[in-house]
Amino acid sequence: MWTDKQRGIRVSKEELLCKNACGYYGNPLWQGFCSKCWRERARSVGSPRQDTRPSTDKSPLTFSKFEEKKNSEKGRRINTVRKFFWGSPSTPKRQESSESYTNVLKAYQSLEPGDFTGFLKLLRSAPSQRLQSQCTAFLNTMEAYHDLKVQKQSDFVQDFYQSFAECFRGLPEAQVTCIMEHVEKLIMTRLHKWVFCHDSCDDEQKDLALQRRIRSFNWVTPQMLGVPFPDKKTEVTGDPFLPAITAIIEMDAKRAPQDKLACVSKCSQHVFEGLSGSSTEPANADDFLSGLIYVVLKANPPRLHSNIKYVIRFGLPHSLKAGESGYYFTNLSCAVAFIEKLDGPALNLSPEEFEGYMLRQHVPSEGNERLQVSSDTRLMLEDLKGRQEKVDQGVDALSMELHEWVQAVHSQLNEATVQLALVQKELTAQAELTQESSSPISGSITERSGQ
Ligand SMILES: [Zn+2]
Repeated sequence: MWTDKQRGIRVSKEELLCKNACGYYGNPLWQGFCSKCWRERARSVGSPRQDTRPSTDKSPLTFSKFEEKKNSEKGRRINTVRKFFWGSPSTPKRQESSESYTNVLKAYQSLEPGDFTGFLKLLRSAPSQRLQSQCTAFLNTMEAYHDLKVQKQSDFVQDFYQSFAECFRGLPEAQVTCIMEHVEKLIMTRLHKWVFCHDSCDDEQKDLALQRRIRSFNWVTPQMLGVPFPDKKTEVTGDPFLPAITAIIEMDAKRAPQDKLACVSKCSQHVFEGLSGSSTEPANADDFLSGLIYVVLKANPPRLHSNIKYVIRFGLPHSLKAGESGYYFTNLSCAVAFIEKLDGPALNLSPEEFEGYMLRQHVPSEGNERLQVSSDTRLMLEDLKGRQEKVDQGVDALSMELHEWVQAVHSQLNEATVQLALVQKELTAQAELTQESSSPISGSITERSGQ
């Protein structure tokens, strides 16, 4: 899928495409096929056993638990389970209320991409009841059978997507895609805790192995990977790939496959930005893959293998096969495949040099590397100092403001107290005046009357 030449890593867009030449993106984890061709292959390989099942459904629906049971019983149970999953066949009961169903479709048609709350509201509304109960039944059954093999769970979820999308057959494709993205988010947000890094597979061990391998490459420099990197003299802002590193680390915290994919896309866009900062020429695909490998090595993203597998198993097929998200995701998978096979020639090192680095027998070009490390540290310290200064300035400004504010409150309080005293004084004066004036007046009156 990728080859290494004199300098850096080379990969053409064609090499990223499905081996079946269907035009979609392939993935090293599917041996270079796209999800569709990979599933079809897997089905044709496993078909002799599946064909003996009574069902004509092409989806593999064998539960490991039931395999031990008698065939007849097995068939009956699977059908029961299938009913749980899908209800009656995917076509809506048109005779029941085709008009209300058209209205439901209309309502879904006005949904905006990304408006998940709007989707939930719509799904919970009375006309959508059938769709909602399909989702609920599916989720409940999946939770009840969460100890099934993860590949089976993946098949069920993918079949569910397909069957659910059928309900919106009348709508334009873009709209169905938008609806299905909401459905994926709804389903996978809830199933994540059951199916991510599942016990039935070796994802956890692979995560640990990958993490260890990435850590063992902490000596790899951008120059070795052929990543255009800013000149140290002009550079003061630190690693230009830092936003990309942050984005790829965030992926693990997301639950829906599309949100994880969004992190991959965000990371990739930052890689392009990082590349454009160090060159006047626009970044090409080779630079991009090298940059992405550098970012993955620097980030050592948590549970990277599990995250990629999770997206592959439970993501919507269209977002992996095509478009920007598909391209970026395939590149990420290639980056991981590259790291797993990383050797001397790929880094322009002799096998001995490579071994040496791996055994930590010598640090890259000895003295030079020390210098590099110390200059890096110095830059980092300078950066930190700059930030510390900014923080200090901020703190000063804030305490000044606070001081001024306290002063202002004090003076306002003083003013108010003075005014209050004045008012009180005035009131007492008035009261006295009234008292004084009332008695002399009455006195004068009596005096006058006495005259
Ligand atoms: Zn294909």
